[in-house]
Amino acid sequence: MSSTAEQLLDSLDERGDTSGPWMLKLYDTCTADPSVAVELVLLRARGDERLIHETMRIVIGLVPFLELPKLVEAVLGEAERAENLDPAIEMLEMIAEQSPEAFHHVLARYFEVAVRFMSADYLLQRSSSQLSVPWARTGKLHFEFLKQQIKTGDERRKGLAWYALLRCGYRKAYDHARVPLNMPPFKPLVLHDILMDVGIAGDYKPLHTEEPLYMVYEIELARRDTPMPGNPDFSDVVGRRDATFNPPERLPHKYPFGGALDVTCGMCRKPLHRMMRLDPVPETLSKVCMLKKLDLATCYSCSGWIEGILYFCHDDAGELTDPWTRRTREAKPEWPSAPIVPTTVTLGRADARWNVLSPFMGNQDRVGGPPVWVQQANYPSCPSCSQEMRFIAQLGRDDYPTTDGGHVQFGSGGSLYAFWCDKCRVSANFWQCT
Ligand SMILES: [Zn+2]
Ligand SMILES: [Zn+2]
Repeated sequence: MSSTAEQLLDSLDERGDTSGPWMLKLYDTCTADPSVAVELVLLRARGDERLIHETMRIVIGLVPFLELPKLVEAVLGEAERAENLDPAIEMLEMIAEQSPEAFHHVLARYFEVAVRFMSADYLLQRSSSQLSVPWARTGKLHFEFLKQQIKTGDERRKGLAWYALLRCGYRKAYDHARVPLNMPPFKPLVLHDILMDVGIAGDYKPLHTEEPLYMVYEIELARRDTPMPGNPDFSDVVGRRDATFNPPERLPHKYPFGGALDVTCGMCRKPLHRMMRLDPVPETLSKVCMLKKLDLATCYSCSGWIEGILYFCHDDAGELTDPWTRRTREAKPEWPSAPIVPTTVTLGRADARWNVLSPFMGNQDRVGGPPVWVQQANYPSCPSCSQEMRFIAQLGRDDYPTTDGGHVQFGSGGSLYAFWCDKCRVSANFWQCT
């Protein structure tokens, strides 16, 4: 008799189309019996490709958090036996996103598997730094081991150890890794890219906080209807059950969202569009913004069309006073936008396993926490002090209605990212899309 997991996979239609009802069945079956989710992950790690990549993220999300270390061991076992490491590594990377801690008891074993997976040119690719995610939050625990690998290992061992040193959250390890080594992957440009991925800059300055707060709209004006590739009904069926859309713990405040400001855009001269007004600035952002309140705005007509990154000056009360640059000639945006319908949002917390999301997963409308990059990680430099700015908020849904019946969207499946320099009181924002 075939297992429940196999029956589930057998019930997929010929095209492997994970339609809404099928996703619901997956969700309900795995919730009632998480061992089904575990088995689906193991089947995939052995090379069963009937479920697409993004669906596997959901499946892993249905494995109880405390079961993840055991799952890591099982997938590692598969990897150690396998000729082709790709499917097992894919699963390990997804588990690592939700819980680096699930690897901490088997990092020596994982190191061997990851090194086997790396090729010399893989080392040069920025995605290879993803293999080092399991060392996140290990602090100084593996510092000696990693240092030793850099001293005596071959190129691949050196490479992986180097990424892990940058990733582990230990100042001395970071300093050690920043010493340029005489190897091709350790060129300054690669170092810069990896540091952007990890979210640290210069003198060990974190560029984002750890814990995101998820936006919940007073009225459900913002839809998240970007269909996931191969999963058109994802947002309807599973998306709304997600803890990031329904955070169990909410802050007491209501934050104004949308609408317009009195200040005009430096490009098109129309009133700037409010993203949101952080009044008060949440406690979780105390290391990013010392001000008590902060008004974040952009121009949905000009952002990304007339100018890539928009910068704004604020006074010491956090009010937006001026665009950083005001062009002498008025810009004529091709697609002028009205403000988003004004409403309020509350901010909520969810389980830490969702802190690092991937695009197309969960609620990407967040304040603080790690940004969910649609493209390469990119923290803009402050136009005043040239230091990297810190991430402060992201809008990542697909369709925000505007006061004239239109809507704001950031290309296809895109996100708007906002940043802050506390020293200069400058905010910035730009968007990326797929
Ligand atoms: Zn404008
Ligand atoms: Zn600055």
